[in-house]
Amino acid sequence: MKLLEERIRRDGTVKSGGVLKVDSFLNHQMDVDLFNAMGEEFLRLFKDVPVTKILTIEASGIGIACIAAQHFHVPVVFAKKAQSINLDGEMYTTKIESFTHRKVYDVIVAKKFLSPDDHILIIDDFLANGCAVNGLIDLIRSAGASVEGVGICIEKGFQTGGDLIRGKGIRVESLAIVDSMDAETGEIVFRPQNN
Ligand code: 5GP
Repeated sequence: MKLLEERIRRDGTVKSGGVLKVDSFLNHQMDVDLFNAMGEEFLRLFKDVPVTKILTIEASGIGIACIAAQHFHVPVVFAKKAQSINLDGEMYTTKIESFTHRKVYDVIVAKKFLSPDDHILIIDDFLANGCAVNGLIDLIRSAGASVEGVGICIEKGFQTGGDLIRGKGIRVESLAIVDSMDAETGEIVFRPQNN
């Protein structure tokens, strides 16, 4: 998606350790007009699949998931990072290792919000090593629901997440794929996409 690539080039900062900082428009301050264009693009990419719910993870996936949901006209459920797990059987749980915080979280979704009839589209801001998306897939499978696809704003193509998730036979559509980036020069190379 050219609009997103241009914005990343203009306002993104390449940090050491393979981190792309986009907090002026994506995951701290949010450019809602850009989000709306991304939501429209997700609908264009996934219009051929039945979607009954969008699933994301707190916190930075919630904004884009909600705006995308306005185009799909479905509810958004966000998986919560739990402090302590209440083992009353009312929650699906999994563990996710955070790429940015290097910490393992217990992540939960209430059983009442995911059912075997659901067709789920996962939406998140970034795909890096794929832990977050993999955990969300786990929660969906625990509920017996189907994973219709994964929509990502920025995939870091030099990390393993894209191959991991696509290798499971799951469709992943990323609006921008960064193939390489250089913290010294600030250079960012995007993977050419023709859809
Ligand atoms: P993964 O689980 O795929 O390794 O990482 C995905 C999560 O880590 C995303 O939800 C995102 O919040 C965060 N993340 C991963 N890489 C980056 C990055 O380069 N920049 C920012 N801002 N967040 C990232």
